[in-house]
Amino acid sequence: MSLADLIAEQTAIFNAMHPKTLAHAAEAQAVWRGGVPLHWMDDWASPVPLFATRAKDATLWDVDGYAYDDFCLGDTPSMFGHGREELQAAITRQAGQGVGFMLPTADSVEVGRLLSERFGLPLWQCATTASDANRAAIRWARAITQRDTILIIDGAYHGMVDDAFVVLKDGQTVAKPGLIGQVIDLTQHTVVVPFNDLTAMESALAGNNIACVLLEPVMTNCGMILPDEGYHQALRDLCDRTGTLLVYDETHTLSSGYGGYVKEHDLRADMLVIGKAIAGGIPAAVWGVSAEVAARMDAAQTAIGGGSSGIGTTLSGNALAMSGIRTMLTEIMTRPAYDYMQKGAESLVAQLRCVIWRQELDWSVVHVGARAELVFASPAPRDAQTMRKALDPALLKAFHLYLINRGVLIAPFHNMMLISPKTTPEAVKRLVDAIEAFSIEYKRFTS
Ligand code: PMP
Repeated sequence: MSLADLIAEQTAIFNAMHPKTLAHAAEAQAVWRGGVPLHWMDDWASPVPLFATRAKDATLWDVDGYAYDDFCLGDTPSMFGHGREELQAAITRQAGQGVGFMLPTADSVEVGRLLSERFGLPLWQCATTASDANRAAIRWARAITQRDTILIIDGAYHGMVDDAFVVLKDGQTVAKPGLIGQVIDLTQHTVVVPFNDLTAMESALAGNNIACVLLEPVMTNCGMILPDEGYHQALRDLCDRTGTLLVYDETHTLSSGYGGYVKEHDLRADMLVIGKAIAGGIPAAVWGVSAEVAARMDAAQTAIGGGSSGIGTTLSGNALAMSGIRTMLTEIMTRPAYDYMQKGAESLVAQLRCVIWRQELDWSVVHVGARAELVFASPAPRDAQTMRKALDPALLKAFHLYLINRGVLIAPFHNMMLISPKTTPEAVKRLVDAIEAFSIEYKRFTS
């Protein structure tokens, strides 16, 4: 027996359990290219995606009537729980009073104040997605430093950001495999170094020609990779010494604690990007800048004669987004909520480590605040090159499909699990039990 047999068994179970899902999938094929409104939605391990009917708190229901403990939470936008009444009330009110004005709302002043108070950067701009915000940050970094090239970390993902679609292969920066429609050689203006490698970072920055380093404080898109002790402080020093801007993407690490990873760990960002959960899943993102960066942005704009260069989108900063962000910051992303999430994640991690020990698995668990990751390797890798070996596609597929059949959702692609303020200890126990049951089946099928 092999993993392929386990996948075949679980596929048959899924199909037998999901007649309506299969029918929806067949109908969707006729109207959506690839059968889904966004092609990623077909990247789950099930033979066809689940079709959601609704979600509340940390539970999601599908068209066949099954309830799922949701640890994916939309891959972060719903990190604070689905269907939050506080958010519903605010956006319903705002929708009745208008949504798109191309004007700041009264709310926006308070939102700016809340953002600077919480995340520590004084001045902010809005975008509609974290991808947009990262693109804006990169463009401005290039503009104010007058440097063409940016640096990203191997294995990073920053959204639909062309400049960041590069990886390391045999020590060289190359375009990501599978990149379609690409006409510009991305390696001309982006360099890549491994995470936690300060020697590589130092030599990449040594030419004083890098506009910015763009990175997540903890890598969350190639499994999860924690920074070494002192990594961020050394990176800050290197950036200061070489006139390089340091841009942190907190889109996922917002799970780290009340002020995000950067604030909680006393790091100093020149620019900071936050998306996804900041408006509870209402499309909105924000990016903050230091006073010095803001002054340089002003100067760059004056230098081109002022005005706008058409870099923006009409939906960004709209009234609905503002009311969403305000509600999230004041009513939902509270200290007690973070305390609960952190405790839940710690409990999950402790229970998973027991499973690993009991079942004698060569696995590990890493976490940052409310976000935990089960890694099919031990010790947990320190860089993407090592992590990629642990991301065995067949094992991931078998694991995720098994969990879906047990009524548990975790993020596709890797093994990320988010604890929301609404996730119950019972749901955590069901997740742990499902993972332990899988590990037993996995050993049975592969030994
Ligand atoms: N930054 C990070 C770290 C992300 O993980 C993602 C998406 N997974 C993005 C940016 C892009 O977010 P969005 O899809 O909302 O544009």
